[in-house]
Amino acid sequence: MPPLINYDAPASLKAFLDEHGLSMKKRFGQNFLINPTARRRLIDALSIEPEDEVWEIGPGLGAMTAELLERGASVKTFEIDAGFIRVLQDFFGGHPRFSLIPGDALKTWRTAGTGAYLLGNLPYTIAARLLGVLIEENRLFTRMVVTVQREVAQRMSALPGSKDYSSFSVLCASAYRVTPLMVLKGSSFYPVPHVDSQGVRLDLNKRSYPACFHKVVRRLFTSRRKTLKNNLRCFTDAPEDVLRQCSIASDRRAETLALEEFIALAEALDRRAFQ
Ligand code: SAM
Repeated sequence: MPPLINYDAPASLKAFLDEHGLSMKKRFGQNFLINPTARRRLIDALSIEPEDEVWEIGPGLGAMTAELLERGASVKTFEIDAGFIRVLQDFFGGHPRFSLIPGDALKTWRTAGTGAYLLGNLPYTIAARLLGVLIEENRLFTRMVVTVQREVAQRMSALPGSKDYSSFSVLCASAYRVTPLMVLKGSSFYPVPHVDSQGVRLDLNKRSYPACFHKVVRRLFTSRRKTLKNNLRCFTDAPEDVLRQCSIASDRRAETLALEEFIALAEALDRRAFQ
């Protein structure tokens, strides 16, 4: 059965919510994307073929779900709101390519099984945490397209030396080619949030890293004003030797290092651990 809501009109959404005794909850970061062009462009950016398996995080009332199903995808949705879950089951429960995993996606993803693509107008409450844990725990996707707060998008795609460059930027670049998409003003959402959002596409760029890689990146950014030589002391008693091996000047700071340099450092530390 096709959904009986006009997803583009706040008045229609509000009437539907009222009729079903539902309300929007701030604690779940609920802001519906009411801009149909933006929804279409985000799904286009996912570049899926019929039968592809897509994880949709936070489907809400199913505005993107309906379009994904229409394009032939198998859609695994992750939703926490009990009222929205009832509506989603009602709208899509009989569809053979639809499934729903109720609960907190930060926990439920672990047992969710297969899926090569991820789409989500992500709740701001979990966006960076969810992306971070999926990458760190090596649950990678061929492609992800997400909408996040603009500041988060800027951190995801920041380059070495810029003010937004952080361990999260290195984490994203370690697994994906990160492409910022359109900026979405508050008026694209209902209710209108106080901040701008931005779409981001992440294309898998898989390579292998020593086990200590994520720990090294996090540690080096924890005291970001300290030089590498000082920060590396918690891993080795010969930080200057390690830096020399990697041709990295010892007075540099984490915020200036490119991904390749973080990898070289982690590999050098890993080698020393087994010498
Ligand atoms: N996809 C819809 C849209 O674009 O209009 C709704 C997006 S809204 C920003 C975020 C959605 O994520 C809401 O449906 C909210 O209930 C859900 N959500 C929030 N926290 C969640 C969590 N921890 N796990 C799963 N879903 C969550």
